[in-house]
Amino acid sequence: MNKEITEKIITRLPPSPTGLFHIGTARTALFNYLFARQNNGQMLFRLEDTDKERSKKEFEVNIISGLEWLGLDYDGEITKQSERTEVYKKYLEKMIEGGLAYISEEEIKKEGQRGSVIRFKNPNKEVIFKDLIRGDVKFDTTELGDFVIAKSLEEPLYHLTVVVDDFEGEITHVIRGEDHISNTPRQILIQEAIGAERPIYAHLPLILSPDRSKMSKRHGATSVDDYKEKGYLPEAIINYLALMGWNPGTEEEIFTLSELLEKFDIKKVNKGGAIFNIEKLNWINKEHIKLMPEEDFKEKVLEFSSEELKEKFVKYPRVFEEILPIIKERIEKFEDVTKMCTDGEFDYYFFQPEYELEKIFWKDENDPFVLRLRMEKIIEILNSVGEFTAEKIKEALWDYATEEGRGSVLWPLRYLLSGRDKSPDPFTLSEILGKEETIKRINYAIEKIQKS
Ligand code: GLU
Repeated sequence: MNKEITEKIITRLPPSPTGLFHIGTARTALFNYLFARQNNGQMLFRLEDTDKERSKKEFEVNIISGLEWLGLDYDGEITKQSERTEVYKKYLEKMIEGGLAYISEEEIKKEGQRGSVIRFKNPNKEVIFKDLIRGDVKFDTTELGDFVIAKSLEEPLYHLTVVVDDFEGEITHVIRGEDHISNTPRQILIQEAIGAERPIYAHLPLILSPDRSKMSKRHGATSVDDYKEKGYLPEAIINYLALMGWNPGTEEEIFTLSELLEKFDIKKVNKGGAIFNIEKLNWINKEHIKLMPEEDFKEKVLEFSSEELKEKFVKYPRVFEEILPIIKERIEKFEDVTKMCTDGEFDYYFFQPEYELEKIFWKDENDPFVLRLRMEKIIEILNSVGEFTAEKIKEALWDYATEEGRGSVLWPLRYLLSGRDKSPDPFTLSEILGKEETIKRINYAIEKIQKS
């Protein structure tokens, strides 16, 4: 527990369900979660759904399931502002009674006609608040005028509902994006009007796209769902988001959630914007893939494989086992498995590949007779290999390949087995395919040579 903290810490996560769970919101959730859990405190969750037109049930569901996917749990029941109209009404009535707010008859901008709104009576003073990341922040509230806090007694607006809920939830720390910093003075004035204690603030730097503009869809995926669908691991998203504004002050970059609980320090969060870098996220994701238990890795590969290959992988577990390390080596996220499937990268493991004969020849070689003799010699050598492992195959072929020229022997073998410019080495390939299939494919090549 932080030394200076003696009261019970309560943080909050109050997203508006007006869009899919955004990675910026996920970062805010993570920092609130870490700070609360590090101090044996709580993180409350509420849905700020006062905007009836833009708030949607599907977004609520999306945010809740996204939090669960990331493993960020909150305390207590979910509060929904739309169900608390009566509570806000009481505060509004009291404020009006006490002369701290008033009903104002005026032209309503949007509707272009006269109506009434409830305005806060601004005491026009300077507000200074302490921000854990920015130090003291000063605002002159005069220019805010008497701002609107509700459309009517039954239609409270954001600034009021936030303050009431933070007050009633006994929130001690408000940790949120920097975009809310200009809302803070208004909220402090309302707090003072209703006699609420002021929480401690921490405004997190914005997450920016590589060109330092606000992160938007134009620069890539912005919702947590998008990343989930692309096959990023929740552990990697958590790890990466922790580094969006914070760093441990060492070279260390790979953290699990429980390591973050030990090392994260809200006071070490930077003021400057955090630039979202997809290559970095990919690298972190790969590191977390390496940390996965083998069974989980397998399951994920199957989940992201095409239907056709999934069937093959299940039917030929031995081949699947052999391919798994190759997949792990190649991918950064599981979506890459899908791409490998659609690119036909695994097909040669299960089917005789088709190819042009000319491509079997190494570099400038072109003598089919010589090629055929070499292939026959390879078959002879392979037949003598007992335990058909990459290592033993290599051992058996090595002297002959060195004698003839390695490319002249090993390139044709690799190519006729895979039919692709890139593939694992011929020894590994032979092992995966097994002796029988390997020799069958060499014979297939010999037939092709004969026919030419
Ligand atoms: N509902 C606000 C939002 O989603 C958050 C308000 C706050 O953190 O005070 O941006």
